[in-house]
Amino acid sequence: MGQTLTEKILDDHLVEGELETGEEIGIEIDQVLTQDTTGTMVWLQFEAMGLDNVQTELAAQYCDHQTYQFDFKNTDDHRFLRSAAGTYGAHFSRPGNGICHNVHRENFAAPGKTLLGSDSHTPTPGGLGELAIGAGGIDITVAMGGAPYYIEMPEVVNVRLEGELPDWATAKDVILELLRRLSVKGGVGKILEYTGPGVETLTAPERMTITNMGTELGATTSIFPTDEQTQDYLERVGRGEEYVELQPDDDAEYDDEIVVDLSDLEPLIAQPSMPDNVVPVREVAGQDVDQVIIGSCTNGGYEDILPGAKMLEGREVDKKTDMIVAPGSKQASEILARQGWVAEMMAAGVNFSEATCGACIGIGHVPASDSVSLRTFNRNFEGRSGIEDDNVYLCSPEVATAAALKGEIVDPRDLSDELDDLEAPGIELPEQYDASKTDLISPDEAVDDELVKGPNIGDVPLKDPLDSKLQGPTLLKMDDNITTDHIIPATQDILMYRSNVPKLSEFTLSRIDETFADRALEADGGFLVAGENYGQGSSREHAALCPMYLGVEGVLAQSFARIHKANLFNFGLIPLTIDEDTYERIEQGDDVEIVDDVAEAVQSGQEEFTIRVNDDWEATAQLDASERERDILAAGGKLAHTKKQAEES
Ligand code: SF4
Repeated sequence: MGQTLTEKILDDHLVEGELETGEEIGIEIDQVLTQDTTGTMVWLQFEAMGLDNVQTELAAQYCDHQTYQFDFKNTDDHRFLRSAAGTYGAHFSRPGNGICHNVHRENFAAPGKTLLGSDSHTPTPGGLGELAIGAGGIDITVAMGGAPYYIEMPEVVNVRLEGELPDWATAKDVILELLRRLSVKGGVGKILEYTGPGVETLTAPERMTITNMGTELGATTSIFPTDEQTQDYLERVGRGEEYVELQPDDDAEYDDEIVVDLSDLEPLIAQPSMPDNVVPVREVAGQDVDQVIIGSCTNGGYEDILPGAKMLEGREVDKKTDMIVAPGSKQASEILARQGWVAEMMAAGVNFSEATCGACIGIGHVPASDSVSLRTFNRNFEGRSGIEDDNVYLCSPEVATAAALKGEIVDPRDLSDELDDLEAPGIELPEQYDASKTDLISPDEAVDDELVKGPNIGDVPLKDPLDSKLQGPTLLKMDDNITTDHIIPATQDILMYRSNVPKLSEFTLSRIDETFADRALEADGGFLVAGENYGQGSSREHAALCPMYLGVEGVLAQSFARIHKANLFNFGLIPLTIDEDTYERIEQGDDVEIVDDVAEAVQSGQEEFTIRVNDDWEATAQLDASERERDILAAGGKLAHTKKQAEES
C-alpha cells in the first residue's frame, strides 16, 4: 500500500513506534521555534535540565507577542531570551521583526523537515511541505535537548481541492469553509493533507493561510504537497536550493476524505465569537463597522496586505471606521514601503503599525465597548481582543478592506458593483522578498554568552511525584470549549508576568471567577470540571503550569484539546474524561475523591478510575494516556521525568 505525504515524512523521522492510527510514535525533530510568551519558560527549563547547547538542526527564538515596552518586565524578558539564544545556540529575532510564523516561513521553513513550536499556529509552514506541530514549551525544551517528540499517530484526512477560486474568494475562505463544515473540533486527532487539482492553483503563501488556520479546526497539523508553487516561493525568498519534491503515493490510503470545490466558494466571515461561526458575508452585510485590522500570522504577509492596498489606492477609509494594518513581518513592511504601498495606504487613512501579534491578543488596538471589529486574524474568542463585550469578525483582507471603504460589512462583489473601477486584486508575490535581515541574529552573530536575568524572571516551579491519594473540592465547574485564554488571559497587564509564575497564577481563570486563585490556594488541592474540548486555543503551557502552582490536582472534562492535554501531563495534573451524566451531576464545591491508589493505578496502565463524590455517589472516569505519559504524570511532570531519566542513564 502506498503512503500519504504525512506518512512519508513521519517515516523519515521515526525513532519509535509504528505508523498506525492511535499508536504512540516518537519522531526526530529538525527545527524548533519558540516565541516570547512561551520562550522564557522554555529556556528556564532548558537551563534546569543542565544542557550546554541546542541539539536540533535549528532553533529560533522570536519576540512577537508582546513587543511594546510598558516597563522593565517585558524588556527583561526579551533581554533574557536574547541571552538564552546566544548562550545555547539559537537564532534570535528581535522585537518588531515580526510574528514567529511569518519570519520562520521566510527564513527557515523547508519541505520534508519536522518543526516543533511552542505556539499553536506552528503548522503554518505545512503550506511549504514541512510537518510542523504546535506543542507545549516543555516539549520544545526536551526536543532541543535532542529527545524525540512523542505523539499519538493521528488520522490522516485527505482534503481534496478541486476547481479554482473565483474573483473575490480567497484562501481565507477555503479555511473558513472548512470551519463552517467541521467546527472547531472537526480536526481533533487528525492531520489534514491537501491534495487534488485545486492545490496547484494556490500559491505557497495562500496555502500557508490555510495551514495556519487548520489550528482552529483543532488539527494536529495540516500539510500540502510540494510543486512548482513551492519552488517558486523558495526561490523568491532566496532559498531555492531547499526545494524537495514531496507527493503522496497514487495509491495512498487516507482515513477520511473531504472535497472542497474552490470554484463554489464565495466571501465568508466568522461571526463573534468563534472561528467556526461562519456565514456568507452577504448574510451579515449592512452592519456598521468601527474598526478593521489587516494582519496577524494568518493574513499578515506581503501577499495579504497588497490586495487591500490596491483596493485603497486613490480612495479613502470611511470616516466612522478605523483601519489598522499590522504586517506579519518587518520584511513585508519593508518591501511594501520600498514599493510605495505604505504611503498609499497611509494616504487612504490607514494606521500602519509595527509587525507584531499585538492586537490579536488584546495588546493594542482594543476595540471600543460593544463595537464591531473586522479582523483578518484566526481567532475571535470572546474577550481575546482585550475587552469582554467585543464583537470580532474574522474575514479575508479583501472583505476587511471593503468594510473599511464602506464603513459597514459588505460583500466585496457588491461593493465592486457600486464602485465601477474596483476590481478583484487577486494574489501577487514580489519578484524577490529582498528585505534586510538585520533583526535576525544567527548563533554565529550572538552578542551574549551567558544568561541575563532581570527581576521579572522567576524560578521554574516543580511538582512532587504523584500522590497515592487524590481528594479535594471541585474548585470550578465550566462549560464546553473553555480556551487557554479563559485559563490564563494573554492581555498585556497579565502577560507581563509570564516569567513570574507566582504572580501570573493570581490571574488563573479570573475571567470566569475572580476569586479562583485565592480559593484554590486555600483549598490546597482539588479539581477543575469542564465540558467538551477543554483547553482549546493556544499552546500556552501556563494554562497548566499556573493551576499546578495553585495546587490543582487534575481536570475532569468530557474531552480535552490535544496540546492542553499534553500540557496537563507535562505539569503533573491528571486529565480524566467523564461522561455527560457525570458532568451534569457534579457541582462546583462537591468533594471529589479518586478511590483508586492513583500513583499505582497510573503506572500500572489502569484506564478506568472510580471517583466518589460527596461520599454519596460514584462514577467512572477514564485516563487515556500512553505509557510515557503515565510515567511523566507519576514523576510529577515532564521536567522531573526528564531529569530522572538523565540520572538513570
Ligand atoms: Fe500571534 Fe495571533 Fe498568530 Fe498567535 S494567532 S502567533 S498571537 S498573530
